[in-house]
Amino acid sequence: PKTLRFILGDQLNSNYSWFKEVNPNVTYLMMEVMQEQDYVMHHIQKILGFFAAMRNFAHQLSKKGHRVIYLKLDDADNKQFIDQNIHFQLNQHQIEKFEYQLPDEYRLDEQLKELCKGLSIPFEVADTEHFLTTRYEVKDFFGDQKKYLMENFYRHMRVRLDILMDGGKPAGNRWNFDTENRKKYDNKVPLPEVLVFDQDLSTLKEMADKMGVKYFGRVNEKEFAWPLSRAKALKALDNFCENLLPHFGTYEDAMLQEHISLFHSRLSFALNTKMIAPAEVIGAVITHWQQNKATITIEQVEGYIRQVIGWREFMRGVYWAKMPGFAQMNFFNAKRKLPQWFWTGETNMNCLKKCIGQSLDFAWAHHIQRLMVIGNFALIAGLNPDEVDEWYLGVYIDAIQWVEITNTRGMSQFADGGIIASKPYAGSAAYINKMSDYCKSCHYDHKKRHGEKACPYNSLYWDFFHRNTDKLKYNPRIGMMYKLLDKFTKAELEATLLQADEYLNRLDSL
Ligand code: FAD
Ligand code: SF4
Repeated sequence: PKTLRFILGDQLNSNYSWFKEVNPNVTYLMMEVMQEQDYVMHHIQKILGFFAAMRNFAHQLSKKGHRVIYLKLDDADNKQFIDQNIHFQLNQHQIEKFEYQLPDEYRLDEQLKELCKGLSIPFEVADTEHFLTTRYEVKDFFGDQKKYLMENFYRHMRVRLDILMDGGKPAGNRWNFDTENRKKYDNKVPLPEVLVFDQDLSTLKEMADKMGVKYFGRVNEKEFAWPLSRAKALKALDNFCENLLPHFGTYEDAMLQEHISLFHSRLSFALNTKMIAPAEVIGAVITHWQQNKATITIEQVEGYIRQVIGWREFMRGVYWAKMPGFAQMNFFNAKRKLPQWFWTGETNMNCLKKCIGQSLDFAWAHHIQRLMVIGNFALIAGLNPDEVDEWYLGVYIDAIQWVEITNTRGMSQFADGGIIASKPYAGSAAYINKMSDYCKSCHYDHKKRHGEKACPYNSLYWDFFHRNTDKLKYNPRIGMMYKLLDKFTKAELEATLLQADEYLNRLDSL
């Protein structure tokens, strides 16, 4: 039958089985639509990055001989909604069968299911062939347990995929090398170069402006830090194995003012758009390690594999187990508005200025910057998780809801009440000072809890625990904090809470 196959912007997998042979009866449909620009305000690099990668992908498909309809945002017959465009193209080309790949986003999954209900022709839905697990594998793995422990799932994945296993035991006799890893950057190895690509996105930007797309953040249109094709993604993967993997684990939690990414792979955009697959990333990492065991330790490799086969698959599974309810959870009933400086980076708190500034410059920050600087502040200041989610979903180039909301609302804001994290990721200035060089050039004093120039993280940290005593005191992993809080003198407690109050009343001017 004459078939229309729809490809979403995050389904750029050129190895997909659909494309194995050219079939003149099959037309592929891709589209840039306002619907996808409007549901939150996005960073300009996210918008341009998706459009450019989609256009490259469509171009490659056509070059191989496939029939492709590509709707540009400013095309005259673009209806700007996915369902309306599909209906229009089905009629226009007298299509007899409609096919699509399972979306990873709940919203789009519902939209396409709804669309298919109204079709008078047959339709078929196929898996994306991208992930290492199925949608509901995590849900089935944990059954009716209230809390999902990533570590258990990760070990199961190691065994199931036979990765870093040694005769039924974990290689190196341990599942976890976190104690060796996670060091502050100590100048012992030189900082790597940040890989950027020469890619001119100015025409795309002009189109976005002409169409009135709303965005925030900054862009260097001529030099783009994100791979926009599979070929470039593979280059980035090579660069990771060669130059970054040897120190990935050691410095995975470190933060530095003058370097945006240290030894992180920055492969998340290529992975989440499916230009490259998790299986090939871990394959490349393991092969490179096996050939270079003299220079790459198992600690580095395990640290990385954990992120890809553990956290990434786990978060996707939690998403499908818990949506749509997950998007409404607000365990602490946090209601404060996001301070203005989330959109400008203009705050006197140097860590936030640097991490938000970098997010606005590159549409990316690494895990600890997202978790322990920005997310941590939002958590202890009691910012509304709806607004926090919206910001994270808009700002990061790799932000697609399945991996954004689970990390943000779940892991970082504990708004899920502890499905994902066993305790809130709250930290005071001591943690930020230990893992970064931000505090030494900050307006605030990281050692002070209250008084002139006291670091806001300190009073907000204690205020957070004090404010949420009834919700947290009986958590066995947090009880210790309350013992410490009990030891505060009355005067110290009062001064700390007063300081927090003062800061909370003027978040915009911190
Ligand atoms: P690396 O450190 O090099 O890690 C390798 C890969 O592992 C990543 O590319 C990613 O695919 C995977 N990975 C690592 N950590 C996680 C994690 N916690 N969850 C899922 N996958 C992980 N990641 C996104 O892809 N999209 C998001 O929108 C997103 N939002 C986040 C929000 C918050 C509050 C936090 C704390 C984390 C978020 N993450 C998100 C996870 C993580 O921060 C990014 O995947 C990572 O920073 C991407 O950079 P990288 O490719 O250099 O990662
Ligand atoms: Fe951040 Fe406080 Fe350190 Fe300043 S002193 S950089 S606000 S943790």
